[in-house]
Amino acid sequence: MQMLNSVNNLKVAKNFKLSEFACPCCKLVMLHPKLLAKLVELRNILERPVYITSGYRCPRYNQKIGGVVNSYHRIGLAADIKVKDTNLIELLEICENIDFNGIGFYEKKNFLHLDVRPTKRSRWRE
Ligand SMILES: [Zn+2]
Ligand SMILES: [Zn+2]
Repeated sequence: MQMLNSVNNLKVAKNFKLSEFACPCCKLVMLHPKLLAKLVELRNILERPVYITSGYRCPRYNQKIGGVVNSYHRIGLAADIKVKDTNLIELLEICENIDFNGIGFYEKKNFLHLDVRPTKRSRWRE
């Protein structure tokens, strides 16, 4: 299993590694270039690390954590993010300007869900 430690250990942008987007259970990964481009834009505006708390999810993992069946995480179009010492509302405003097609605001758990779904814009709050 030694090999698994270095799999996907490559930079896909100056501040992001592919492994950061990998499924925690199997290390498989899908990452749409449009999602990455928008996250890079966010990172550049913030000038601080953007932590990917959930990127790609294989069907099994998605089910295990109770994700919705057709989650955009399952096809590499979504990421959940956290940014240290940054107000979630402020972060939301920046993400609105970058125009992610889907934005979920998770106030209690203190993270944002961001996606580049091909369908019309969607906003929700938990
Ligand atoms: Zn998995
Ligand atoms: Zn999400």
